[in-house]
Amino acid sequence: MQPPSRPSLPDPCAGEPAPDAPDGIEHRQIVYRVLFDRPATARRLAAVAGACRFVWNEMLDQQAQLYDMARMCGAKPPAPTFFTLGKAFTQLRRVTPWLQAMQYVPVRYTLKYQTDAWRRFFRGEGGRPRFKRRGRDSVTIPQDVRIRDGKLYFPKIGWLQLRRRGGNPYPDAEPVQAVLKRVNGKWMATVCYAVAAPARPDDGTVTGVDMNVGQVAVSDGRRARLLHAPDSRRLVARIRRYQRRLARQRRGSRRRERTRRRLARTQRRVAQRRRNWQHQVSRSLAGGTVTVEALRTRAMTASAKGTAEAPGRHVRQKAGLNRDRAILATGWGGLRTMLAYKAPRLVAVDPAHTSRTCAACGHADAASRRNRANFECVACRHADHADLNAARNIRRRGLARLHGEERSHSATPATRETDRRLAA
Ligand SMILES: [Zn+2]
Repeated sequence: MQPPSRPSLPDPCAGEPAPDAPDGIEHRQIVYRVLFDRPATARRLAAVAGACRFVWNEMLDQQAQLYDMARMCGAKPPAPTFFTLGKAFTQLRRVTPWLQAMQYVPVRYTLKYQTDAWRRFFRGEGGRPRFKRRGRDSVTIPQDVRIRDGKLYFPKIGWLQLRRRGGNPYPDAEPVQAVLKRVNGKWMATVCYAVAAPARPDDGTVTGVDMNVGQVAVSDGRRARLLHAPDSRRLVARIRRYQRRLARQRRGSRRRERTRRRLARTQRRVAQRRRNWQHQVSRSLAGGTVTVEALRTRAMTASAKGTAEAPGRHVRQKAGLNRDRAILATGWGGLRTMLAYKAPRLVAVDPAHTSRTCAACGHADAASRRNRANFECVACRHADHADLNAARNIRRRGLARLHGEERSHSATPATRETDRRLAA
């Protein structure tokens, strides 16, 4: 059994960018609300999504046992493949009659997500795959997506009405994949379209971008500046208040339900604001080449918790900081994705020591980074805002990469894709 040949749309819960597309084609994701003609239709969709969750959890249970057993014996844990999971899935279907009645293709696609999740885990790019809870279900139509007259066809269920303000911006594009997901009791469909890649004129500039909590630093070679994210502190405080209230309220009560709705609405507002801002920023930067730091994998990131042998310092303070970060600073992935499709070229460079290297003399020393905001080189006394200094370094590394490519004549069309993948 081969994995589906279609590009895989990432799990929408993971918040990942759209998959790579062949040359001249790009994938764009559009989110629609799904409306049902009657409650029974929604229940049938929920049943398929429930089957996906069931398969995910069963497979995960098996794989987790294999993993733990191997670890206990000191052996190398086996990495599941689409093939091995496929065999286990066939077995599971054999002993689970109700599963046989479910739509085969969408349910089997769960295996693809699980294979990817384990692969990311083994590469150190993600945490250990987790069990899925009821209530946040999703189901994927991985191929042969049919959309007609604003309706999406779901196998064995029928045509589902899609609604979106502004309609479909790509009415002529081919839908490649659709992920249906229940958010706060409402069904949303993320449809991935294959669209012709627009021409992106390159104005020749090279910009370095350093992303930090609440702001990005940008250097275009002449000057460097800070772009501040919208101030959402009041909304974040409100989110905290709702969360505390929610913790006190009795489960299943009407008051609790009201708090939950308000919390969700406030969270949406924060996300929406951030998204708008990211669109503005990415638009303003996307005239030429944009350089960002390649994402740090788990192995590269020293966590605040530290290890059992070397526990981290300031764990408590960092825990508090991280809570706010979790609300405020998630979603640089969004900005990266936007830059990847708006800029003529996105280069991802090695992130090591960008914040402790002097942009003036190149001396690298942790002591030069005086504190969060201030950089003063211990060698040449050059002083700058720490993030601006980092943005200059990132730009310089981007330039080095570009020049290196020119010398080796390796600036092939593939480079852009590679860079995108690196950036993703
Ligand atoms: Zn210096």
